[in-house]
Amino acid sequence: MAGPLEGLQKILALERTKKFADAAVVGGLDAFLLRFVREHEIDTAHPVSRVMQSLPPGGYRSLHPIQRQRVVEELLRAAENGAAVKKKTPAPAKVVQFPAPKPTATKARPRASEPAEPGRILGTVDSPVGVLRLKRPDEERFRRLGLNTVRDVLFHFPSRYHDYSAVRPIAHLQFGEEQSLIGTISAVSTRMIGRSRKGTEAVLSDESGQLRVIWWGQTYIARRLKQGQKVALSGKVTEFRGRLQMENPEIETLEDEALNTRRLVPVYPSTEGLFQKAIRTAVRQAIDTFADRLEDPLPEEMRKRLKLMPMAQALRQVHFPDEPEKAEAARNRFAFEELLYVEIGVVRRRNESKDAGGAPVLALPKDTLDAFVASLPYELTQAQRQAIGEVLEDTGDQTPMTRLLEGDVGSGKTVVAAAALLAAVASGYQGAIMAPTEILAEQHFRTFTRVLAPGQAEAPGAGPWFQASAPGYLVLEPPYMGRPVRVALLTGSLRASEKLAVQEAIAAGEVDIAVGTHALLQESVAFHRLGLAVIDEQHRFGVEQRSALREKGGSPHVLVMTATPIPRTLKLTVFGDLDITVLAEMPPGRPKVKTYRVLPYRRDEAIDFVRRKIGEGRQAFIICPLVEESESIEAKAAVQEYERLSRNVFPDLRLGLLHGRMASPEKDAVMRAFRDHESDILVSTAVVEVGVDVPNATVILIEGAERFGLSQLHQFRGRVRRSAEQGYCFLLSDSPSPESEERLAIMETMDDGFRLAEEDLRLRGPGEYFGTRQSGMPDLRVAKLTDVEMITRARQEATRILEDDGELSRPEHRMIRDRVSRLWDRLNADVS
Ligand code: ADP
Ligand code: MG
Repeated sequence: MAGPLEGLQKILALERTKKFADAAVVGGLDAFLLRFVREHEIDTAHPVSRVMQSLPPGGYRSLHPIQRQRVVEELLRAAENGAAVKKKTPAPAKVVQFPAPKPTATKARPRASEPAEPGRILGTVDSPVGVLRLKRPDEERFRRLGLNTVRDVLFHFPSRYHDYSAVRPIAHLQFGEEQSLIGTISAVSTRMIGRSRKGTEAVLSDESGQLRVIWWGQTYIARRLKQGQKVALSGKVTEFRGRLQMENPEIETLEDEALNTRRLVPVYPSTEGLFQKAIRTAVRQAIDTFADRLEDPLPEEMRKRLKLMPMAQALRQVHFPDEPEKAEAARNRFAFEELLYVEIGVVRRRNESKDAGGAPVLALPKDTLDAFVASLPYELTQAQRQAIGEVLEDTGDQTPMTRLLEGDVGSGKTVVAAAALLAAVASGYQGAIMAPTEILAEQHFRTFTRVLAPGQAEAPGAGPWFQASAPGYLVLEPPYMGRPVRVALLTGSLRASEKLAVQEAIAAGEVDIAVGTHALLQESVAFHRLGLAVIDEQHRFGVEQRSALREKGGSPHVLVMTATPIPRTLKLTVFGDLDITVLAEMPPGRPKVKTYRVLPYRRDEAIDFVRRKIGEGRQAFIICPLVEESESIEAKAAVQEYERLSRNVFPDLRLGLLHGRMASPEKDAVMRAFRDHESDILVSTAVVEVGVDVPNATVILIEGAERFGLSQLHQFRGRVRRSAEQGYCFLLSDSPSPESEERLAIMETMDDGFRLAEEDLRLRGPGEYFGTRQSGMPDLRVAKLTDVEMITRARQEATRILEDDGELSRPEHRMIRDRVSRLWDRLNADVS
């Protein structure tokens, strides 16, 4: 067995080097796998077959490369396990559950799954799974799946269904389709089939014809079948030498309740050695015994109004649906319920921050604002004006602001923050702005210095802009403020004594605006009178940080800024507690980045282009391919690429290297050198800092572009759209598949970050798009974070319930309250 499995492993390894382009074998991996299991007579219980069964109807082909990677990994693991299993236990198939033939005398012999005998199952939904009368080894396997109690089993939903509902006469069976038949066994034997493998072969007949049926490797089946017995079979119809046949179909006697045949049959997420039949039987028992005893958490009134299936019915239909539409409706009910709990948490968080009150009133007199705007070296865009208006309206109220300012890279968010910070200063409060990295903090510090006191910062002798003067801050004197504005830069790399000096100045209220990194969040930084906190590039800050900042003093206003376009569904969930302002306009005179896909054979032309632009005095980014195995492998690859480029491609140019394994001071040094044009090309992994402003960089070349998400590609591209200079983005892919070509083609034509984000979320799912865990969002089990319509409805319902019964103290909301607190408490426990 090791032989063929090794062959499979080789193909899979090759597929990996081909970046999951389905290019390892002619004809594609799907066809290869089918051939493979058939040729080597690999039965359906084999780990490899199981992975294959888990594929969607469109097969491997239909998957996104990121999903494909997962499948390839699973297959590799399965091939390994499969080989191991074979060596240790030569006959692993014996665990298959197959109902024993009935002794003829007992007419009404009780069936395992029949509701008639619930008395035999003792316990409650919270009893251990063992009460479901599992086989001993299966009990352990259920646990491995995380199914510890009956309730867990009830809520272990199928990932898909076999549609065996078409029961056809043998003569009407269709090749390649899933279907069922009922026939009489006219012959059954155990014998060698094909090359060298024993199996069970049977001939089934009905009035319309006969059909050969084979169970590869499963000789024990023969012992349980008798000539003349009537059985139901379900499976896919295959073909051998021009005649239809069935291989390894599911089989049940007609006395059995249809669980595995003749219906929509659930397929569950499973684990090594645990068979679908065993799960189905356990679920059936759990439903029959317990479903009607469960109280429905959703009040009847709500269910009726929203047309949601009652719980017990939904449990039945989600596991053993009468028809696909019912399964769908059942799933929708659970998805809605899940989203409702999420939204109640989100809306409540939002209400709490609204009710908090007690925020300082930060106002910027109109004259001051006008003078500030007039002092800028450019005209504000309409979007910026409006954003400033919205933010100042919020800060002018005692309700603490929690607003998200969302705008594409380069849309000019910083100046909006500056206006708000000035409002704090003008009202006698302090403001803070935090960035995810030192270099971004420095950049903000520089921007504020420039914006607030243009002459001063540029003046000779002012020293390097980022060096705070002796007391730990710069004193700027914007004429329109009528008072000095003291700005400090607090980062982790300050010497201890410097840091202390800055902290003291902040605590004493000598500093008006503190610019910094996360360091600002640390306990040791006490603000004198914090009025406003601005958090830049929010997606790296979770909910906890937001509240930590809140606790820095009183209830400051909070403005969160992000360049990551946030799909609508996430605005309703992950960011559901925030108000949102969108800067949907770019400052004028910033040409769109020209984006080109570059096929492998034209790579040299792209390289030549980079060289030419550098010759003109510009700079370039080269982004290394994404390596998902680990950061250290990725770093290694980046080092190699950097060395190759330095030695062979651009020996005459100055190259910098940036990767995730470098320490922050090292990273900052490299970024600074690039910003100050001490290097021409920055070779970087995906860590290249968000938001860093290097207007002189106008070319970005992205290697292995097909492996990045659209949003991320768009972010990269934003780095070369920071001036009036035309920017260029080259998307290189080594082995482009049709799908990745299509995705990259979208990049060539679509420039709208928001639409790209929606597209991304749809193609890759929220997990990839956005780590929900660190964002303070519970994981969703049933619901999809892409279903705008359902999320909106859940949001409305959550709002309605909380308006009505803020504490969820009414009896009909008791279970909802329970579920909500369980969901969010668990989450909060995970986070801390
Ligand atoms: P981001 O939204 O990515 O944080 P920034 O605030 O860093 O963008 O602004 C990007 C660049 O655009 C900065 O150099 C800034 O001075 C400039 N800028 C901002 N607003 C305008 C405007 N209305 N017109 C021209 N340039 C602007
Ligand atoms: Mg920015």
